[in-house]
Amino acid sequence: MNKKLIVYYAVFCALIVFILLISMFVIKKWEDKDKKDNEVKEEIEKVKEYEKKNKVPQNIRLKITKTGEIVTMDIDEYLKGVVPSEMPPSYNMEALKAQAVVARTYTYEKMQNNSHKDCDVCDNFACCQAYYNKEQILNIWTGRKFDENTRKEYWSKVEEAVDSTNNIVITYKGDYIKAYFHANSGGKTESSTEIWGKQKIAYLIPVESLGEEEHQYYKTEVILTIDELEQKLNKGSDKKCNIDINNEDEIKILSNTVSGRVRNVKIGNNIYEATDLRTLLGLKSTNFTIDVNDNKVIFKVTGYGHGLGMSQTGSNYYAKQGWTYDQIIKHYYTGVDITRATQT
Ligand SMILES: [Zn+2]
Repeated sequence: MNKKLIVYYAVFCALIVFILLISMFVIKKWEDKDKKDNEVKEEIEKVKEYEKKNKVPQNIRLKITKTGEIVTMDIDEYLKGVVPSEMPPSYNMEALKAQAVVARTYTYEKMQNNSHKDCDVCDNFACCQAYYNKEQILNIWTGRKFDENTRKEYWSKVEEAVDSTNNIVITYKGDYIKAYFHANSGGKTESSTEIWGKQKIAYLIPVESLGEEEHQYYKTEVILTIDELEQKLNKGSDKKCNIDINNEDEIKILSNTVSGRVRNVKIGNNIYEATDLRTLLGLKSTNFTIDVNDNKVIFKVTGYGHGLGMSQTGSNYYAKQGWTYDQIIKHYYTGVDITRATQT
């Protein structure tokens, strides 16, 4: 092979390598562009989905349980009826704002789950949230002997709590939270795994709640004779309960929840869940001790309500300490975000 041919051959090989490199570079660029396009597309989809999820209607359909009537009203008008029906209007402004945001989130979460067929929410506190219209609320306050100035002051507080938090909602990983709340936790809130189907909800875990002692039902008692206890248990349950008073261990707490509330109790020949006992015996919470004295059974109860999510008494205490509504919310619902929903 002469020298010339070798040079040609080398140039040819270099050219091939060069073309190959160029092609690889171009292909890589195309792939990168495709990848980037896909990423952008995915991002746009995510934003659209988020917006869709967070787009909330201006109006809601509320069922008035007493009459069966369904009223369509602005969400904020509805919330102005819920906040003072669920929380004392004398509470600190930041606590009222927290309640407004909690109530708004609770409503949207309910609406998303379509729990009612013919309406969005109802005015029954046991099903949705308590609601009275402005006129009814002012009448209730008159009944409680609040003078005109106090009534005016309270109503303007309610309006401010709702208006200043307009469209603000609580989310966890982009979804509305189940914004449960209760009157008084007794010092610590409860885990979702202990109540209502034992469902594990990441943001509903026990947290300390200070200042609970200020509530009128912080400490309550239910005193029953053995006969009365048997009657109440047998009236509300299929299990026939017989208590042998001569047996020392007839009435005994068997286990407690992580927050220290009672999980189950042995009474006579049966074992009861504390949440069932609460309903059957009218106890204010499942945070109780039991004393048996002669023929009397004394339930000493701390706190008021199921203990899940925000404690209203605690929120008022923290507000008075200078916490803002979002600090209060983030304390009671672990790891949540506070965001603004877009109105349609
Ligand atoms: Zn309802």
